[in-house]
Amino acid sequence: MSPKNKSTYQLPLTPPSSTVKRRGTSNSCLEPINVNIKPKKLLSELKKSSQLSSPASPCKIRKITRKPTLKYRPIVNTIFNVQDYLDGISKSKKDNEKNLEFLKCSFKYSNKIIVIAGAGISTATGIPDFRSNSSSKEGLLMNKETKSLFDYNYVYSNDDSIEKFNKLMNHLNHLSNTVKPTKFHHFLNDLLEKNKIQRIYTQNIDGLEKKAVSSNYNNKIVQLHGDINFMTCNFCHIRTSYDPTLFENQLIPDCLYCMENQMIRRNAGLRARSIGKFRPSIVLYNELHPSGEEIMQFNKIDLKKFPDLLVIVGTTLKIPGVISMVKNFVTKIKSRKNGIILFIANELPSQRIIDIIGHIDLIVLGDCQAIPDLVE
Ligand SMILES: [Zn+2]
Repeated sequence: MSPKNKSTYQLPLTPPSSTVKRRGTSNSCLEPINVNIKPKKLLSELKKSSQLSSPASPCKIRKITRKPTLKYRPIVNTIFNVQDYLDGISKSKKDNEKNLEFLKCSFKYSNKIIVIAGAGISTATGIPDFRSNSSSKEGLLMNKETKSLFDYNYVYSNDDSIEKFNKLMNHLNHLSNTVKPTKFHHFLNDLLEKNKIQRIYTQNIDGLEKKAVSSNYNNKIVQLHGDINFMTCNFCHIRTSYDPTLFENQLIPDCLYCMENQMIRRNAGLRARSIGKFRPSIVLYNELHPSGEEIMQFNKIDLKKFPDLLVIVGTTLKIPGVISMVKNFVTKIKSRKNGIILFIANELPSQRIIDIIGHIDLIVLGDCQAIPDLVE
């Protein structure tokens, strides 16, 4: 091959002019930069250029709030009394101001928040928890005595207890359908929308966390004890909307889907199969957790991502499985320089829980519904 011919096979050093976009027609968020600018002035020009970009630009730049080194960290297990602060009690005013600032910074600068929620975030709606006053209307249905109605071995021991259980479930389902999420639920939703929450683990069965958020965030919410808005068949495992009338007519209702399937099989001349039973999609004490494996997987994923803030809210941590989950998160978060543990409840954690957790940065004593206004 002659040298002349060889040159025709060389790759072009620049693309043909027809493929080069003209300056100003680009989709970039940034305006074109003057290339003749001196290097020393380049940074200020870049800043100016980014300010000029249109707010209606299709490009979204995720704002990253880097966590600054904390100037103040309360001593371990410090109590911040919300009511004292709101009442302006002077003897602890200075400390309260500092603790409130710490609380604000905790939410402002954390971007991998784990929330472990309990009944306390829903009680403002009128949905009771086990500690509700038995003299109140709701407390009559939900108190320490009726707690046994959440024990699998007791509930299914006789017809009378099943009937009481069904009545309680129908009532809780009715409440969950009629009440609206609280201010604190919406606060969690705001944090989700800001992409600051890694996961919400809730012990509540009212489903209000999901009601407060867009369905896009459903995988961010783990309902540790199920959801009273659904019922599940123990044979075909279908999960469908809870129907209270079924539980009024039958102690343990037959699964409608299994029955329909049986009819189809019979018409097709196939042998009959078992018909499953519907149960509310909640997990009782002394029952094997049907989603135990799935929850463990969520835990593993979350621990690997090194969360930076643990918020234990509206719970006194009575369930052993939840306590052990808290311990794992505390260990991981405390291995970070800026990791923070918050405990928010209207009663102090027991000494046993304090010892188990080992390190709480701030115990916020008071109604969690006050938190959104305090930190904003
Ligand atoms: Zn079924």
